[in-house]
Amino acid sequence: MNKPPLELLQMGLDVNSFTYSDRKSWRGACPKCGGNRRFLVFTDNEFPLWFGRCDICGMEIKAWTKVKVKYDPIRAAALQAEREREDAERAEYRRVKLAEFTTREIWNELHERMTSDHIDWWESQGIPEGILNYLHIGYTADKGFYNKEKELLHSPAFTIPWFGQGFKFNTMQYRLINDHDRRYIFEDALGGGKFYYMTEPDQPIGDKVVICEGAKKSIVTQFWLIPEGFTVLAASSANTFDAALEATKDCGLRYIIMDPGSEYWEKKAVATNKKTTHAVRLPYKIDDAWRDYGLDRTTFTNILTNAI
Ligand SMILES: [Zn+2]
Repeated sequence: MNKPPLELLQMGLDVNSFTYSDRKSWRGACPKCGGNRRFLVFTDNEFPLWFGRCDICGMEIKAWTKVKVKYDPIRAAALQAEREREDAERAEYRRVKLAEFTTREIWNELHERMTSDHIDWWESQGIPEGILNYLHIGYTADKGFYNKEKELLHSPAFTIPWFGQGFKFNTMQYRLINDHDRRYIFEDALGGGKFYYMTEPDQPIGDKVVICEGAKKSIVTQFWLIPEGFTVLAASSANTFDAALEATKDCGLRYIIMDPGSEYWEKKAVATNKKTTHAVRLPYKIDDAWRDYGLDRTTFTNILTNAI
């Protein structure tokens, strides 16, 4: 029952990307802007009176215009009218629902708002779409925030949910897209200092860990650099390593990788357990080292092995 109907193929859709949404609809990739759940096809009438629309780019497909079978134009017009009414109801329901929720509860919604341009940007930073989906990284068109002068500003932002083990949502981090004096901010009163970021929230923390500064860096490290068998965690900044250090205090091997110029904090972190903890000093931020200076897994593994 829950296998996607082959008629989706006739609508020009990637049938394998579709999953059962409810009794009368299926969700899958949009043929125009991609994604994995943004195209919704209503299948409550007999084929070809099926209608599909993308939540993100608004692309529409009317199956009856795509297939060469007879249909009743009056019935199709009535269906279209009914569809429009339902759409309006759904849009209103969504507006009310979103207003009720805080960002804590809508990380999945925000993930669905990523466009293909956004995904391209993350991929150019070394983070592929599959990882964006897995970690529910998203986008919001308008994040209000205060600058140093306490003026309220607005910017579109990428949303990075900070999950603890078992995908427990801890806080939301925003990467502001318009360049301001603050690039990363956290949800009000939920500073990143209390939490660490997990690149594999469905896995337990292993015995060997790498702790980076910043979620994006930790994802690049996890995906492109670490040898087999390591857990990668991140702190939000050089002075917020405490939560990650506490969570890994019984680990047999810990590598601390801060941005250049953080020697004071690095020493503090290593001092929490000198036997197991080593500082890795790179001349560049680790994601820049990977993207621009040719750091690869082999070199990085050697660097870990030789860390003091
Ligand atoms: Zn689309």
